[in-house]
Amino acid sequence: MKLKKRIPVIDQGDKLGFWGGKFGGNFVPETLKKPIEDLEILFNKLKKDKKFIRERDKYFKNWIGTPTRFIKLNNLTKHVGGAQIWSKVVSDANGGAHKIYNATVHCLLAKRSGKKVICGDTGAGYAGKMLSMAAKKFGLKCKIFMGAKDIERQQPNVKAMKKNGAEVIPVYSGSQTLVDAVSECMRFWVANCDTTAMCVGSTVGPAVFVRICGWSTSQISRELKVQLIDEFGSIPKKLKLYNCVGGGSSSFGFWNEFMDYDKKQVEFIGVEAGGPSNSRKHAAPLTNNSKIGILHGAMQYVVQNKDGQIEETESISAGLDYSGVSPLHCFLKDTKRARYTAASDEETLSAYKLVTKYEKLRPSLEPSHAFSVAIKESKKFSKDTIVVVNSCGDAYKDQGILEKRLGKKYVKSN
Ligand SMILES: *Cc1c(COP(=O)(O)O)cnc(C)c1O
Repeated sequence: MKLKKRIPVIDQGDKLGFWGGKFGGNFVPETLKKPIEDLEILFNKLKKDKKFIRERDKYFKNWIGTPTRFIKLNNLTKHVGGAQIWSKVVSDANGGAHKIYNATVHCLLAKRSGKKVICGDTGAGYAGKMLSMAAKKFGLKCKIFMGAKDIERQQPNVKAMKKNGAEVIPVYSGSQTLVDAVSECMRFWVANCDTTAMCVGSTVGPAVFVRICGWSTSQISRELKVQLIDEFGSIPKKLKLYNCVGGGSSSFGFWNEFMDYDKKQVEFIGVEAGGPSNSRKHAAPLTNNSKIGILHGAMQYVVQNKDGQIEETESISAGLDYSGVSPLHCFLKDTKRARYTAASDEETLSAYKLVTKYEKLRPSLEPSHAFSVAIKESKKFSKDTIVVVNSCGDAYKDQGILEKRLGKKYVKSN
């Protein structure tokens, strides 16, 4: 399979929604065929509509607060010795993470299609929090499906959702995490799609959801491109973009505008969740060469047992604790445009300690995975190498886990 330069990756899927002929697709019950087709038609029309783009950009700018900062981490660079380490501080966005882009676009689409209710899934709670914020902003009723285990470990975001008027529905099936929340949310949509819109929280699910989400988060790389040219006069000769990969929406959005550069100039490094170092459970289907399977309506690399049953995953970060991964990343892996690796829970905590010790930046546990690998590799790079890490979330939501694992002194108040 081949990555075509200059054609947006989200448009490189075939008519049936497969990238590279095998990743993605629409494995959905018959009753969802029509609502999915309607959404496809609406999205294909609006993404070319100048008025709609202007409306999107207005909300991105005035409500989400873009562009987010692009900053040099001087102290960390000095400490590590090697490449220049920079960060795109996407956690500056309203709500504290990138999921607001996708949530906003889905609410704009829901309004256009006359729906009054929007439902969504959430893992770390960010997708739910952002959807509840956007739903409130646009006057939509909001229902959030969340694994019972995640409700317990991400309390600050649960409180935020309720405050925004959303109904939070705990999911007790399976591992009681994101994978089950997505399944339950889809089940709800099947039964209520006449009145309800669905927002999938990452670049996963049936093909149209992958495309809407990737299109929305690409705002991150659009900004970064401008900021790099402002800073360096042109796109640096040796640029390395590190991002954590759960479902894959922040990383795809962070890379999308750079797809047609040679990978020798602009390299993409995706960091999955390796889980506890003493456990064989992980949430890293790309790194560990998991087999291809079907999850949440799409063909993808997925963590599974030898009978093909979806395997539970384990990670310190709820946002990365997912058995599957976006078909877009499966495609980028097989075409070798991006490189994938994993960081363990312990490596992630060390990276968090190091970054917060040297910088006024507080990456959540998800981007701390990316920092871990970026720091390790930066030591070996030359000074003219520009390493950029997407700090896609703020650690405020992780205060409980950080206190338990590292002690009180690593918990900084907001
Ligand atoms: C949800 C989330 C992730 C993982 O999802 P992606 O779709 O891979 O971006 C990473 N970081 C944060 C802060 C999140 O909220």
